[in-house]
Amino acid sequence: MSDDTSEDWALVTGGSRGIGRAVALAAAAHPLHVVVNYRSNEDKAREVVDAIRQAGGSAEAAAFDVADPDASARGAEQLLERLGTPYAIINNAGILKDGLMVWMTREDWSRVISTNLDSFYNVTQPFLKAMLGRRRGRIVNMTSTAGQVGNAGQVNYSASKAGLIGATLALAKEVAKRHITVNAVAPGFIETDMTAELPEATLREAIPARRFGQAQEVAAVVAFLLSEGASYVTGQVIGVNGGLA
Ligand code: NAP
Repeated sequence: MSDDTSEDWALVTGGSRGIGRAVALAAAAHPLHVVVNYRSNEDKAREVVDAIRQAGGSAEAAAFDVADPDASARGAEQLLERLGTPYAIINNAGILKDGLMVWMTREDWSRVISTNLDSFYNVTQPFLKAMLGRRRGRIVNMTSTAGQVGNAGQVNYSASKAGLIGATLALAKEVAKRHITVNAVAPGFIETDMTAELPEATLREAIPARRFGQAQEVAAVVAFLLSEGASYVTGQVIGVNGGLA
């Protein structure tokens, strides 16, 4: 499909649950056609697509593992072929494999780095040439407070999220003159499946706002970064953390 006929669309990795789900709904309201990427939970991805359609928006689901270079390249190629150049890529998919470094297996190190950091390359690189050619676009990377301050028990996760911040700052400088912005959003503690097991009552005490955030509060910042009003905002890391960092 040529760019002249394609509608604006956004890819939200890990769009089937939690923060990604809220971001997918916000991107659809932009309005953008939204590709809801997920790894395995097809029912949840379908539910997000249905919610977007019921609200009058346009969406589809796309399953591929963002940690897998070949699967990501194939997924990107198919999307480019069918939908043309994306307006926005939101690199949101992420996992935790927590544990103290002294006990951390290489597998838990590698799985987190490949899902949270290699995925940035796997998913973004295949679209970049087309986006540069189109001379407009938005890239938003979901990092974390852990990548800014480091968390004990999360050496792998903190490293992946700090790496994502470095990649954001560098790519922003490469593509700014082609009107593509690259920013990172750094949530603190947000109520999702990822934080469901955490002792919220104890952790709340360390958060100046004295509560966990909601996925919609992160999505609101992403929605701003996708908007025309954010055209001159690039290479930034925007915290959404209730004052934690
Ligand atoms: P979540 O509820 O656990 O959802 C994770 C999402 O990522 C799901 O849609 C999942 O798909 C997808 N995913 C995981 N691995 C994938 C892979 N290899 N390929 C494709 N999709 C994959 O997580 P969340 O809390 O919404 O977190 C979203 C992002 O925000 C993550 O990058 C996380 O590190 C970051 N973050 C979260 C918090 C927080 O407090 N929640 C704080 C800071 C940063 P399936 O449904 O198919 O498994």
